[in-house]
Amino acid sequence: MGSKVGAPEKLIVNGKRLDGRKANEMREMEIEVGVIPNADGSAIVTLGGTKVICSVYGPKEVLPRRNLDTEQAFLNCVYGMASFSTSERVRPGPNRRSTEISKVIADALAPAIFMERYAGMEITVIMEIINANAGTRTAAINAASVALADAGIEMRDLVCSIASGKADGTLMLDLFEPEDNFGEVDMPIAILPRTKEITLLQMDGILTKAESKKLIDMSIKACEEIYEIQKKALQKKYATETQQETE
Ligand code: ADP
Repeated sequence: MGSKVGAPEKLIVNGKRLDGRKANEMREMEIEVGVIPNADGSAIVTLGGTKVICSVYGPKEVLPRRNLDTEQAFLNCVYGMASFSTSERVRPGPNRRSTEISKVIADALAPAIFMERYAGMEITVIMEIINANAGTRTAAINAASVALADAGIEMRDLVCSIASGKADGTLMLDLFEPEDNFGEVDMPIAILPRTKEITLLQMDGILTKAESKKLIDMSIKACEEIYEIQKKALQKKYATETQQETE
């Protein structure tokens, strides 16, 4: 945030963002389900230059046993960045940022899952960022919720997520890297689209109350679009499987 070395002079030129998008335009999103045969569920999400692969394992025995929860599932979320995912090599292994992101992702996903139906069991969600261009935690949430559904985990709804913000004084959807790094505000959000329950809301920077409301409304609309893409990706996998079974 703020004036860092290498900051572009402007983030909006002639009413367009540096990648040509309008303020309320998302990057193109693609989702593919069932991409890792050895996982119980999996998905790849591509959102512009951000790409994440997610695999889900379980429900299975809780290991180590100290993580056992007899009331509900132990939802073990692990977010990581591949060393080649950014322009500067990322040191492999967990760090403060990845530990925090793993925790907020687990909190964003848990309300969608019938956690009590998996009491005493573990559901593991591994999210690896293959290429990072902002919005990696939100892309990971979109991938994880689809991968959980693919694994047959019983859910109330999918979870849809987007990171929006403010740059050059303009509220905008789905920040890409220069806007995330040099803009004024970054606000990742996740919702359960059917009830509009918000399961993740973080904010870096300052907005007025009216701006926050407007940005949340813009983000919820984008999440509804993401919901359709997620459902289509799941339907595509299962339609293909059904077709193969009948052949
Ligand atoms: P998010 O990816 O969820 O938006 P951040 O706001 O922490 O999370 O990161 C914003 C962006 O900054 C990332 O998507 C990535 O493009 C870049 N970034 C994050 N960590 C690193 C890193 N260690 N090296 C280079 N770029 C990074």
